[in-house]
Amino acid sequence: MFEDVRQHRGGEVASYIPQLARADADGFAVAVCTIDGQRFSIGDTTTRYCVQSTCKPINYAIALDQLGIDTVHRHVGREPSGHSFNEITLNAKGLPHNPMINAGAIMCASLIAPDLSAADRFDTVLQTWERLAGQGSVGFDNAVFLSERDTADRNFALAYFMRENGAFPVGTDLKATLDLYFQCCSITVDAPGMATIAATFANGGVCPLSNERVFTADTTKNCLSLMASCGLYDFSGEFAFTVGLPAKSGVSGALFITIPGVCGVAIWSPRLDVLGNSVRGVEFAGRLAKTFSFDGLPETGDQIDPRHRSIEAAIDQATYFCAAAAKGDLTELRRLVARSIDVNLADYDGRTALHLAASEGHADVLRYLLPLGAAADSTDRWGNTPLDDAIRNGDEESIARLQPKMSEVGEHQKGEVSAHGSIEALAFLPTNKAA
Ligand code: GLU
Repeated sequence: MFEDVRQHRGGEVASYIPQLARADADGFAVAVCTIDGQRFSIGDTTTRYCVQSTCKPINYAIALDQLGIDTVHRHVGREPSGHSFNEITLNAKGLPHNPMINAGAIMCASLIAPDLSAADRFDTVLQTWERLAGQGSVGFDNAVFLSERDTADRNFALAYFMRENGAFPVGTDLKATLDLYFQCCSITVDAPGMATIAATFANGGVCPLSNERVFTADTTKNCLSLMASCGLYDFSGEFAFTVGLPAKSGVSGALFITIPGVCGVAIWSPRLDVLGNSVRGVEFAGRLAKTFSFDGLPETGDQIDPRHRSIEAAIDQATYFCAAAAKGDLTELRRLVARSIDVNLADYDGRTALHLAASEGHADVLRYLLPLGAAADSTDRWGNTPLDDAIRNGDEESIARLQPKMSEVGEHQKGEVSAHGSIEALAFLPTNKAA
């Protein structure tokens, strides 16, 4: 996919400040970090780029964690705006539409630790980036910051417009707020670091490399909701429709995608389309969504579930299924059956769900599993059948349910015995045992 997408050379590098105009137009990096910390990256993976608008969800999350949802949303809405990212417009309540557009991001910057000094406010943000990125490299590009500030008429206009409408908290220092916003846009990161940040969001706010909780689960969820509806400028609705994953882009060609419960993906490629999104980033995201299914449902059509189904996973499934049977947890068993689990999975000792349900006297589980093809004649490593376990437990219904099944097996096995001339197969038959 990386090589295919690399062929795309459409789009233009952002040129509103010289520092962005000088970016390597052909630069391209893709990085992935899973929620259990597996990492892969390809391309210009050591290049650090400025994060630009990808700082917006992070500033929003910091504000949410510090102040709570009610306070934050007294100052910023949570609806897509239907306007371009820096348009001078507010919602019906006189607030910026959402934290993912410039006005909303400036508002979120005003909410971050307003009582601290400018230096400490920036440190608060930078340290959060470092914690989100685990071992990834995070830095700051002072030239970008100075350029941003020198060419920020629109952002100043937005800030004054919001102040005129009484949108800011009382006592907000506009200049300090705008400086903090420009500084946040000028934070730099490499693609592997950004992928880890995306993975921290995918992991409910816990960094998969350090296992440190950076944001609460609620903050993470709220942030992902707004990324899903507002993360890609005026392409947000189309992206939600075609890709369907929470993501945020920035004019440096940055794009990060969060696949909740699976992984984070970062793409960097500076050529932008007319809406300001990375051409290769959007193309790669589209291919990702077409190639893989992330919903955990059985694979359908051409889509692949990228999660590794190893022997380890199969053993886990068996253990899990058997544990649900041992507890008599029919709801869980039904859920696993709906996900096409093999009802005859056995653990290391050859014990199946049927053995465990019989041992614990869960006749209702036997009633559920037997018609699904759970084998009444399976033997564990000691040669015991589920019926042996039911007899040991003494639950009459369980014995009654398993006994007729075993005599069916008996008939069938007797046939086999004569055909193959072996008496070994009879070893587990109750009649044989009794004898
Ligand atoms: N620094 C840019 C601005 O505020 C951010 C642009 C972006 O990535 O959307 O105009």
